[in-house]
Amino acid sequence: MLTYHAYAAPSAKAPLEPFAFYPGPLGPEEVEIEVSHCGLCHSDLSMLDNDWGMSKYPFVPGHEVTGTVSALGEQAKGLTIGQRVGLGWFSHSCLSCHQCLSGDHNLCPTAQGTIAGRHGGFADRVRAQWTWVRPIPEALDLAKAGPLLCGGVTVFAPFLIHHLPSTARVGVIGIGGLGHMALQFANKWGCEVHCLHHKRQQGSRGPQTRRALRPQHQAGWCAEENCEQPRLDYLDGERWAGCTRRARHACSKRASA
Ligand SMILES: [Zn+2]
Ligand SMILES: [Zn+2]
Repeated sequence: MLTYHAYAAPSAKAPLEPFAFYPGPLGPEEVEIEVSHCGLCHSDLSMLDNDWGMSKYPFVPGHEVTGTVSALGEQAKGLTIGQRVGLGWFSHSCLSCHQCLSGDHNLCPTAQGTIAGRHGGFADRVRAQWTWVRPIPEALDLAKAGPLLCGGVTVFAPFLIHHLPSTARVGVIGIGGLGHMALQFANKWGCEVHCLHHKRQQGSRGPQTRRALRPQHQAGWCAEENCEQPRLDYLDGERWAGCTRRARHACSKRASA
């Protein structure tokens, strides 16, 4: 019998342990991915702990999956066996509602999450409807591409939604898991990038990391004692030094002048 091998938590907040299960017959629209890598997102931890009250156990996390197509349902389209692919938060949608037909599949009222009621990518294999399994270009390393499928798409979507021109000046507030990808996207998009980081983020993404990501401008954190407001070093083309409280005050004075 076909068996998938995964890591699962038997109950909320429990550690992951080896878990084998029979996935059932492959559905006609389904794709089986042989998993090579899988990222770890904070949503995995929230689901692991049942923070949102929707987790089912045993719970297999993993929704930043990369790998290759190992089986195709008879109605799966646009993919071939052995193709390099990725899978993010969603695994299934109806493909017939207004949202699906408008290209907003993620807003489908019956969309299914990869780790919500399904077993995710902390496994040797994972399944999803063909439309959610996306080709990964040869130039991208499968070991590094996983986070693009969750945090990456989250910060890339606004570039398209807001028709951001390459001449835009972009401020990325918070250089953490999502922010560090946002400022790299903005750099490659051609924008002038400003990175605003918070005192508390100093440990997670230190100055060396931020320099390596090459924003054109970096704002420090406020030097005032006990003030954790991020500091802006630019506004309207002028340089300001001060925390956002002051900057906002200065900005509103300028606006009313
Ligand atoms: Zn995620
Ligand atoms: Zn739909």
